[in-house]
Amino acid sequence: MSRPETHTGPGPTGRRRPRAALLGGAAQAEILNGDAAAAVRPLSLRDEGRSRMLRALQEQGMASRPQLATMTGLSRATVAALATDLIASGTVEELGTVDEAGAPRSGRPAQLLAIHPLAALAVGVDIGHGHTRVMLCDARGEPLWDETVPQDVDHRPEDALSAAHDMVSSAISATPGGRERMLGIAIGIASPVDASQGTMSSASIMKEWTSLRPAEEFAARTGLPTRLVNDANAGALAEHLYGAARGWRDVVYVRLSAGIGAGILAGGRLLSGANGLAGELGHVQVYPSGHICRCGGRGCLETVASPVALAALLSESRHEQLGTTDLFRLLMEGDVGATRAVEDAGEAVGRCIGTLATLLDPELVVVGGELSAAGDALFLPMMRAVRHYRLPSRAPELRVVAGELGDSAAVRGAAGVVLATLPDALAQSASG
Ligand SMILES: [Zn+2]
Repeated sequence: MSRPETHTGPGPTGRRRPRAALLGGAAQAEILNGDAAAAVRPLSLRDEGRSRMLRALQEQGMASRPQLATMTGLSRATVAALATDLIASGTVEELGTVDEAGAPRSGRPAQLLAIHPLAALAVGVDIGHGHTRVMLCDARGEPLWDETVPQDVDHRPEDALSAAHDMVSSAISATPGGRERMLGIAIGIASPVDASQGTMSSASIMKEWTSLRPAEEFAARTGLPTRLVNDANAGALAEHLYGAARGWRDVVYVRLSAGIGAGILAGGRLLSGANGLAGELGHVQVYPSGHICRCGGRGCLETVASPVALAALLSESRHEQLGTTDLFRLLMEGDVGATRAVEDAGEAVGRCIGTLATLLDPELVVVGGELSAAGDALFLPMMRAVRHYRLPSRAPELRVVAGELGDSAAVRGAAGVVLATLPDALAQSASG
């Protein structure tokens, strides 16, 4: 498969690499196996066995040795030997015992194993249009450090990268073992990403960024492996790993933020397209005579359904300058104009989702991003439009749900992209 993400910068060095990651998902594995393989030396047979066990533990969260044998296809004796290595290296911990159904209890011999949460760390960076956010996560993807600074990211890329770098340094310094256990950084950005070049692949979205190679620059400044990812893809991954799409393999994640985009998980794989442009839902035309979009198109979904566009619409009608916070305040107060703006946005998004559903046949659509907090005003017209525009069939009604991770999906998914490389890296660290 083509690789949707870009990996640059130094790979793991000769020093002992950090241990463990507890997130998983076939998607993550499939997305990034190639990168992981490029970052570490070829796996020995024993390393390969450990890697399979770690990946199984990522996907399952926790498992007994017999369960791991079933999941990996390795013999029980091999699993037992490799588990001993992984426990000795601190990569895996024993949690307690389970009965046959897998529920923890005491007194029975089947020990549950899990990847140690503090055995490795990863940093996600979310570069939006108006903010930079950095999150340092433990091996299970749980946030240990999380900060956001508002800034004009679109027009001041150097400032945004400097701020991100400073925040990453602070996060690493503030976390015990932050440097030694750090596997790397992924930068999620609100732009299509060209995997082969490590650049943004649209010439018109985030114009000031198009000549930059943020991952390369970041890797040089931090000395840590850094990759660049699309923020909607990162959000899709996060919802798949930790949120509303956990356990689902055919998923469309729609991010309704200042930028609108979709991350598409098809059969457990993130779809990137030939040029990293797959899922650019925000630039599908919904009103042929609508406003000119920042991409240069006219009437794109982003011009009618981003919270920024809705706030601008209300600013015009109310003759006062309103931001997205005002939009939600007015919505809460039951303002008819704000409600109407969100309802119309929901209808437009629903039409696009209906078309996507006809093309891709997902089993689940997760709607995230800032605007997803608008609740029924958004979701009811959106669902009506999905039903109306999706190909009528005997298939069950498409599930459309709000994301569970809110506006942290992109940054958490970016960290998840890094953690996806852990089974291979940690398999080797366990071999000493
Ligand atoms: Zn556009």
